[in-house]
Amino acid sequence: MSEKINTVNANGVNLSIPPLKVAIIGGGLVGSLAALNFARNGHNVHLYEYREDIRTSELVQGRSINLALSERGRKALAEVGLEDEVLSTAIPMRGRMLHDVKGQTSVVLYDPCTNQCLYSVGRKHLNEVLLNAGEKFPNIQYHFRHKLKSANLQEGSMRFQCDYEEQQLEEATADLIVGCDGAFSAVRQQMSKTLGFNFSQEYIEHGYLELCIPAKNDEFQMPPNYLHIWPRNEFMMIALPNQDKSFTVTLSMPFKVFEGIRTPKELLEFFHRYYSDAVPLIGEELLIKDFFKSKPQFLLSIKCNPFHFADKAILLGDAAHAMVPYYGQGMNAGMEDCTLFFSILREPHMTIGKALETFTERRVSDAHAICDLAMYNYVEMRDLTKRFSFKCRKMLDTTLFRFFPNYWVPLYNSVSFTSMPYSKCIANRQWQDEILKKIMFIVLSSAVLFIGALYIVH
Ligand SMILES: Cc1cc2nc3c(=O)[nH]c(=O)nc-3n(C[C@H](O)[C@H](O)[C@H](O)COP(=O)(O)OP(=O)(O)OC[C@H]3O[C@@H](n4cnc5c(N)ncnc54)[C@H](O)[C@@H]3O)c2cc1C
Repeated sequence: MSEKINTVNANGVNLSIPPLKVAIIGGGLVGSLAALNFARNGHNVHLYEYREDIRTSELVQGRSINLALSERGRKALAEVGLEDEVLSTAIPMRGRMLHDVKGQTSVVLYDPCTNQCLYSVGRKHLNEVLLNAGEKFPNIQYHFRHKLKSANLQEGSMRFQCDYEEQQLEEATADLIVGCDGAFSAVRQQMSKTLGFNFSQEYIEHGYLELCIPAKNDEFQMPPNYLHIWPRNEFMMIALPNQDKSFTVTLSMPFKVFEGIRTPKELLEFFHRYYSDAVPLIGEELLIKDFFKSKPQFLLSIKCNPFHFADKAILLGDAAHAMVPYYGQGMNAGMEDCTLFFSILREPHMTIGKALETFTERRVSDAHAICDLAMYNYVEMRDLTKRFSFKCRKMLDTTLFRFFPNYWVPLYNSVSFTSMPYSKCIANRQWQDEILKKIMFIVLSSAVLFIGALYIVH
């Protein structure tokens, strides 16, 4: 009988993989988390970030100011010992607060059975917590203002533009290149030149723009523990609470509608018509200033396959699967990439090449599933949430969930409050739809039979 060799030490570090020189491209939420994980596994990490160090910069260059953190992100943060620190300043959101055109509100709790909730976290703060934690590791080096310009993945060589100066180029090498450089990933661009790499992207016809509901007398102007939604069929507005008692408001609508609003007068007319209750909260002056300050941003969904190249490079986060933001899962899914990849890396007798391949095998279908779900929620949030059928379905789901919590987990809950693979969340929903259809059929046919019987008797 062959002797069993334990290749994982007491700290979970896989001894069968020698320490690698790892270059992480992108120091956003996923890159800084990946750096921590690689360092904890004993590898030598160089993190290259295009922007300056956000911890010392005044200007926040990011996409959304705050984000909804849910189970998958929490789990990934817990793995590196940061969940409590992040949650200590996060604001729980227990459900959706829907605002109708007349300004009347109604609440749909996310989870009335077990009271699970989303957490609103500041993007900058979260990124700072992750970067600060990485600073404590002697085997992590940060290189800010380093933009990856080109790479030879096979050779592990990279060329960076430094300090935003075209002329100043720096070269570096690594055993493994990790692309955490977001939706427009330069690493992915290099990968797309390799044989067998599949890629698709889709821009949606809606753009988004951020506004602000400021604090008033140092208080929130709306109940803080909800994700506020103003669903208006073709357009939508949402608001998430911030630590400083303001709300970040995201206005989402077709580019052609944005283009149609050219003057402050047109803007105020539009807002008074569709979002009348929000106007006094934002304030007309601030609304005009914020609306015309910047252009609406594009939103896109990106799928690719594979997520790795030989034993040389891997994509994580938006670089691998950017999605429209309507399920609040982009960051959560990117963080979950780390949980999965590092659990694979800790498997006994794992090699780096095998780990990259296994990651692609186990992750691609789930990444594609959440991209599809995010697209589906794009319709649900702006349109379906206010429909009677949606509310009925939500009620039915909640009732069944209450009675059979291990058996009937509604789609939103399985995505946001469990780590169930995304593709299984979809399969689950399809199975639930089938059951409900059968129940409806039985109820309706029984009703018809009953009425028919009554008719015959009389
Ligand atoms: C409006 C909006 C709202 C959202 N809300 C949520 C939410 O509520 N919950 C949620 O989970 N997700 C949300 N998301 C998605 C979330 O923002 C992303 O999924 C998340 O930021 C992905 O993290 P990342 O680190 O992979 O990429 P990014 O955050 O894009 O970070 C990439 C980093 O790489 C750097 N970089 C880029 N190119 C290079 C280069 N060539 N060289 C070096 N560095 C480079 C960039 O400067 C950046 O710091 C939202 C997105 C949007 C647009």
